[in-house]
Amino acid sequence: MKLQVKGLKTYFFTKKGIGKAVDDISFEIPESKIIAIVGESGSGKTVTAYSILRLIERPGKIVSGEVYFNNINLLELPEKQLRKIRGSKISIIFQDPLNSLNPVFTAGDQITETILTHQDVSKSDARAIGISFFKKAMLPEPEKVFNMYPHQLSGGMRQRVMIAIALCCNPEILIADEPTTALDVSIQKEIIELIKALSREQNLSVIFITHDFRIVREIADEVIVMYGGKIVEKREKKNILTNPLHPYSFGLLGAFPPIDKKINRLNTIPGTIQDIFSFNKGCRFYNRCKKATSICKEQAPPKVEISDNEYLFCFHY
Ligand code: ADP
Ligand code: MG
Repeated sequence: MKLQVKGLKTYFFTKKGIGKAVDDISFEIPESKIIAIVGESGSGKTVTAYSILRLIERPGKIVSGEVYFNNINLLELPEKQLRKIRGSKISIIFQDPLNSLNPVFTAGDQITETILTHQDVSKSDARAIGISFFKKAMLPEPEKVFNMYPHQLSGGMRQRVMIAIALCCNPEILIADEPTTALDVSIQKEIIELIKALSREQNLSVIFITHDFRIVREIADEVIVMYGGKIVEKREKKNILTNPLHPYSFGLLGAFPPIDKKINRLNTIPGTIQDIFSFNKGCRFYNRCKKATSICKEQAPPKVEISDNEYLFCFHY
């Protein structure tokens, strides 16, 4: 087991009240697997990713839970030790490749800086390592890219630079938060193939966050479906694609059919996600669910185990 998240709760304390953005989720990330976390906007995916690395800022707060990495609870680790893990053992790629790079430094400066922070090497070694990772990220003319500023690079190239920076210290876990959402479809595919290839090469465990089931089809081994700050279903990819059990997973799959399937319009799930400040006691999907009955509104849905590591939370699956 590479990473284990137990009972994680991350709330936002605002004038409006307490927003339960992530509310008691537990999951495990196995070695060398790609786990997709999928769910509509606002379901708590980014807050989950940030919580793992303790990047949550006020008014947000991790109110309880444990995150075990190599038997260490990251949520209890002194900040100084955590900083050594962040960016080297566990790294993260953000959605927006332009704003995640510093505009006043070259791509080369930024990868060298990361290498020098985490590895005991000379400046010229760091440069060579940096260029080798630009090559691995399939950047054309890596030596030239090394001296370029972010604004001189296309969106796809910037994201490749981010991937190179994320991987240059040979992390054990990569968290990729919608890394292709800002990119054209053809470039999206290339970036997904790249992450897949590099994760295989470097034995990485990947947490790949997306709202798009089409991307889940391409990349994942296992799938966690989130809704309203909760995990609603966790399955092997092949099983959820052929037989989604939670009504929300079913709806989300229908909203994102395979790319090659000819359809006139995407089916969306009617209704909107509940406000994180005022969830009802029961299932958070209750107000949009075709199968819902009164018990769904009143009681939290039970965990239904499907197999060893597959389960869902639902009264009427
Ligand atoms: P996702 O990544 O799945 O789209 P997020 O994890 O970003 O969703 O957000 C989950 C919920 O937490 C949303 O309702 C969002 O509005 C809320 N949230 C995120 N950041 C903040 C913040 N800084 N202050 C208040 N609420 C926040
Ligand atoms: Mg997000």
